[in-house]
Amino acid sequence: MSVTVRVPAKVNAQLAVGAARPDGFHDLANVFLAVGLYDEVTVTEADELRVTCAGPDAGEVPLDRTNLAARAALVLAGRYGRSPDVHIHIAKDIPVAGGMAGGSADGAGALVACDALWGTNASRDELLDICAELGSDVPFSLVGGAALGTGRGEKLSPLEVGGTFHWVFAMADGGLSTPAVFREFDRLAEGTDVPEPVASEDLLAALEKGDTAALAAALSNDLQPAALSLRPSLADTLAAGREAGALAGLVSGSGPTTAFLVADAESAYSVAERLRTSGTCRSVRTASAPAPGVTLL
Ligand code: ATP
Repeated sequence: MSVTVRVPAKVNAQLAVGAARPDGFHDLANVFLAVGLYDEVTVTEADELRVTCAGPDAGEVPLDRTNLAARAALVLAGRYGRSPDVHIHIAKDIPVAGGMAGGSADGAGALVACDALWGTNASRDELLDICAELGSDVPFSLVGGAALGTGRGEKLSPLEVGGTFHWVFAMADGGLSTPAVFREFDRLAEGTDVPEPVASEDLLAALEKGDTAALAAALSNDLQPAALSLRPSLADTLAAGREAGALAGLVSGSGPTTAFLVADAESAYSVAERLRTSGTCRSVRTASAPAPGVTLL
């Protein structure tokens, strides 16, 4: 028997980052938006836990127990006192180490898929609790839609979204490590007074109204200067997207994927075409938001 689920990538419409706390983490105000780029995770009964992965970036995905999908299976099996013997196959379409929470998506997906395969029937709250244990972005991958994350980003409140937003994503060569980008944020912030992270009222209102122009004006990412400092060529990609007709562009999460908000589906197509020929990125994708969270297929 097998179970397959589909899980979306995310973009951060706002990522406000506070000063490093004594434990090294940062408080965040993180407006997550799930976008229609998906990984599919299939779990099948097997003699031992193993992970396989297919897709353009498959070579960069760890296949051992550090894979978030394998960790999800191990945590669920541990809580229910059963063996984690399952074959997890990831059909990977979300860029790896791209700032789009691909690993988190696979973790949330494997958790829901194993819960269904094993008939453990964990409650939604228990699933969310396991997600939070796996990583700050994992609970959002489970719920999808749009949500405000506070604390380290893992305390989630759902947000109303009044329309569809169209995005173009430019994938860069190679990934950026999220911890390295936070370290660079800390380095750039040295000697400055970092304000408390707060969600933007204008941004939340724009999401609720489905107002693309207002959302474009309110997008922000406090990690962008750090990502640009580590990968200066991203400035060229951002400029190319704006020249191509995007309403706004920003680094997605910790990067190096860049995200461009565009007026409509037609504009997404033309901005994507122009970005593709700009020579400033590896590949380009279009996707709309919000997308649902983990879905059983
Ligand atoms: P985020 O946006 O949450 O910071 P990201 O999109 O930048 O994450 P991921 O694609 O989640 O990055 O991968 C980050 C690292 O996590 C990878 O380099 C890889 O070593 C590890 N990893 C663990 N499990 C997975 C997985 N299932 N898919 C991809 N990477 C994984």
